[in-house]
Amino acid sequence: MRVDIISIFPEYFAPLDVSLMGKARERGLLDVHVHQLRDWAHDVHRTVDDTPYGGGPGMVMKPEVWGDAIDAVVARGRASAGEGLPRMVVPTPSGRPFTQEVALEYAAEPWLLFAPARYEGIDSRVVAEYGTPLRADEVSIGDYVLAGGEAAVLVIVEAVGRLLPGVLGNARSVADDSFAPGAMANLLEGPVYTKPPVWRGHEVPQILLSGHHGRIARWRRDEALRRTLGKRPELVGRIGEESLDKDDRRVIEEFEERRSAASFRAGPEDMAD
Ligand code: SAM
Repeated sequence: MRVDIISIFPEYFAPLDVSLMGKARERGLLDVHVHQLRDWAHDVHRTVDDTPYGGGPGMVMKPEVWGDAIDAVVARGRASAGEGLPRMVVPTPSGRPFTQEVALEYAAEPWLLFAPARYEGIDSRVVAEYGTPLRADEVSIGDYVLAGGEAAVLVIVEAVGRLLPGVLGNARSVADDSFAPGAMANLLEGPVYTKPPVWRGHEVPQILLSGHHGRIARWRRDEALRRTLGKRPELVGRIGEESLDKDDRRVIEEFEERRSAASFRAGPEDMAD
């Protein structure tokens, strides 16, 4: 996969040289090109922002600078990588949520172009301009506001990069991940353990030492369900009835019973307050 990133802080992307992403780049599985947006500014001060129309605090990134940068980066990429256009990704808190599903969607693209902003964001006409030709996609990595889109790009590139064929040593770990499509869809991964079997008095669950693969798989599924019910109950609501077997239903019922027993016990005390 080719990845182009246009930013006023190219140095922000040094982490892409490290660990799994660094190895993927060395092995040619991930081809990252980082560009300084200011190279396309039109004045000696290399200005990329201006005051917002309508007033208000903060500055807005200029459309002409972004337009020239995107056109040049796309033209360069096409010259070296052949035909085709990149999928453009614009991080913004007002975008659609970036999820594992979106990561999988991006992992199927041969070329991604990232436009991380600073200040109050990029003039909205830029996404309008590239919406159709580059399928510009505004995405948010969470309901909070960062100082700039660079950290969001690092998150997205790492989530997408580890899904590319050959990047992870064991492709099965992707299938077992939280949110993975298939058996793990809408489930968080349960607890994991390694040696020693007892650490500071905490024991590894005996079932994991049993060598019984069928029971271990069932235990893992039960734990994934319990964890998801406890931490992200709304995800369990999204699992289709057809994907739940009788053991899943037993885990869900036990969890509901324990929860109503706990709220019944808490009730009289609450009323006393
Ligand atoms: N005023 C903007 C708003 O309220 O939506 C926030 C601008 S923020 C200070 C500057 C830039 O950081 C954004 O344009 C975007 O590129 C990036 N950013 C901030 N929070 C983000 C998030 N949750 N997800 C993705 N990008 C984010």
